[in-house]
Amino acid sequence: MIEINDVNKWYGDFQVLTACNTRISKGDVVVVCGPSGSGKSTLIKCVNGLEPFQKGDIHVDGTSVGHPKTDLPKLRSRVGMVFQHFELFPHLSITDNLTVAQIKVLGRSKEEARKKGLAYLDRVGLSQHAHKYPAELSGGQQQRVAIARALCMDPIAMLFDEPTSALDPEMINEVLDVMVGLAKEGMTMMVVTHEMGFAKQVANRVIFMDAGQIVEDCSKDDFFGSPRSERAQQFLSKIL
Ligand code: ADP
Ligand code: MG
Repeated sequence: MIEINDVNKWYGDFQVLTACNTRISKGDVVVVCGPSGSGKSTLIKCVNGLEPFQKGDIHVDGTSVGHPKTDLPKLRSRVGMVFQHFELFPHLSITDNLTVAQIKVLGRSKEEARKKGLAYLDRVGLSQHAHKYPAELSGGQQQRVAIARALCMDPIAMLFDEPTSALDPEMINEVLDVMVGLAKEGMTMMVVTHEMGFAKQVANRVIFMDAGQIVEDCSKDDFFGSPRSERAQQFLSKIL
């Protein structure tokens, strides 16, 4: 589903990603962790073409992200992305947030988009808030809407970049619960997170990054049981 082949990226002289390789199959739930500044956000932004890379390639469902002729907006519409800061459109109602891309990008009718949007809103437990505006919802609720909005596009995979790290502690679980549900239904997911409870519960693989490199790429049990690298051992001893 997602193939990352020898991806290297520089910001000027600074090499932010070095020879990154991994394969993510359909239904995989891969947690990406590692110290701040290790390149986690950059790597997942490369996957849906939000950041260019200079060497190597990434294929998403057979489409080359690096090829100059690839229709990146089309690719992005098929790979859902949820960021740390819930980026809902502040001037649109929750319903309109859920429908606008379905109508504009996928060409769905207003009614069809609305039906789908409300179904996903219900799924994240927020159907009673359809008429409200983002500012009227809590951070956890906004993040659940952001997930519902991504799901409305029928994504083939979902990318999450620290979706709970900007939330107050009491709101973290309501967002993680939605993600756990998705994982259990078989959604292919790449999740940058420090929530090791989530990793232990639903991940089947863990990628550990340090200084722009994928240092560990192994099963969850191997990662938590016996990480091979000293850097991962140190990271785990601080975080657990
Ligand atoms: P992480 O998500 O693991 O914290 P990032 O992918 O955000 O790490 O960043 C990796 C490195 O790249 C950091 O050293 C960061 O300072 C640097 N970086 C990120 N974005 C830019 C940019 N636009 N220009 C220059 N350096 C950047
Ligand atoms: Mg980051």
